[in-house]
Amino acid sequence: DAVRPLVRIVIVGHVDHGKSTLVGRLLHETGSLPEGKLEMLKAVSARRGMPFEWSFLLDALQTERDQGITIDTTQIRFRTPSRDVVLIDAPGHAEFLRNMITGASQADGAVLIIDALEGVRDQTRRHGYLLQLLGIKQVAVVVNKMDRVEFSAARFGDISNEITAHLTSLGITPTAVIPISAREGDGVAERTDNIAWYDGPTVVEAIDKLTPAQPLDALPLRLAVQAIYKFDDRRIVAGRIESGHLRAGDDIVIMPAGKIAKIKTVEGWPVTPLAGAFGAGRSVGITLDRELFVERGDVIGHAGNAPRDTRRLRARIFWLHDQPLTAGASVLVRLGTRETRANVVAIEKAVDPGDLASEAATEIKRNHVGEIDLSLSQPVAADPADNNPRTGRLVIEINGRIAGGGLVLSVDSGQRAAT
Ligand code: GDP
Repeated sequence: DAVRPLVRIVIVGHVDHGKSTLVGRLLHETGSLPEGKLEMLKAVSARRGMPFEWSFLLDALQTERDQGITIDTTQIRFRTPSRDVVLIDAPGHAEFLRNMITGASQADGAVLIIDALEGVRDQTRRHGYLLQLLGIKQVAVVVNKMDRVEFSAARFGDISNEITAHLTSLGITPTAVIPISAREGDGVAERTDNIAWYDGPTVVEAIDKLTPAQPLDALPLRLAVQAIYKFDDRRIVAGRIESGHLRAGDDIVIMPAGKIAKIKTVEGWPVTPLAGAFGAGRSVGITLDRELFVERGDVIGHAGNAPRDTRRLRARIFWLHDQPLTAGASVLVRLGTRETRANVVAIEKAVDPGDLASEAATEIKRNHVGEIDLSLSQPVAADPADNNPRTGRLVIEINGRIAGGGLVLSVDSGQRAAT
């Protein structure tokens, strides 16, 4: 059996355009529901005299997760013919935007949903912009509720042109634009007679063509230091491998200080030496061949391929706070495990993602996007997001709350450019 690629997707779009309904339908059509679940929910709806909604499935799964009945606590999974699909963050989830921005959710691809009767709305365009901001390039568009427009090919064509133009202006070429009725099932797993005029892929086929983003294992090593433990007389540097691999004997550089060392041992938990190489996603402890000052927030890379140290960076951010962000603002910036004060030197660009109108670059309003120049109160290790999606991400906090976040566009190289 060949390894089935795992793809992580998000389903975005204006509230009520049918995200939950599509997810319920997808779970059903791909045979991913527990035995009897659908029948049970239909019976409950009938007993209560209310029409069955596909979104009940999501609610039911959510309730089970909250009660700890199912093992997988955060994610909804289904299979297409050649892919294992993980749906990250159930639509409508209050933390959805925050999770997308902070990188808690990282998607390989997205489905953008549009109500055929309502058409492309500001929120639709904003979500398109967010996908671009987060570097999600594979986007399948679905035009839902085609039953409400009598499956009109003309109406579909208009919406398809409008959204394609918007996404193209952002640098995203939709992988498909698909007419569907999530509620009735047309276009989800089958090209029904209602959409006989359409000859592109179904939603299941479009998802089946998504490819996993570049594996983090293939990038240079980045170990984000979380803590230093003393064990016996040894000092163990604990952290998470954000990208790349490490093993005992590797020559490393600790950034931003630029100190050089060799990994003596890689430790598991409870502390026991481990043999072999460890890759992205693993949390490990390492011991070094010499006594060096290492602290939470440092990033370890291989000698010759370490992140830059910098006190100045440019970022493209999405702003969530009620209070607009202005030049001169003092904020807290989180980059991986590092946390530092920073000053907003300049707002270089401000855009309303609803209509893509550029605004006077003096402030970035809530739900708007902008580019900023940040001066940090201490040197940090960072990569541009183009080079590393994990270490090239930052979050901005005000008074302990997430106020915005996004991608590192460029870093001003410090004196200790990666050795
Ligand atoms: P969400 O807020 O995007 O998750 O939207 P929901 O999935 O909750 O759907 C909102 C409403 O639209 C519900 O009442 C659904 O029954 C309805 N709906 C969803 N898909 C369709 C469809 O294909 N056709 C019609 N007529 N209604 C739909």
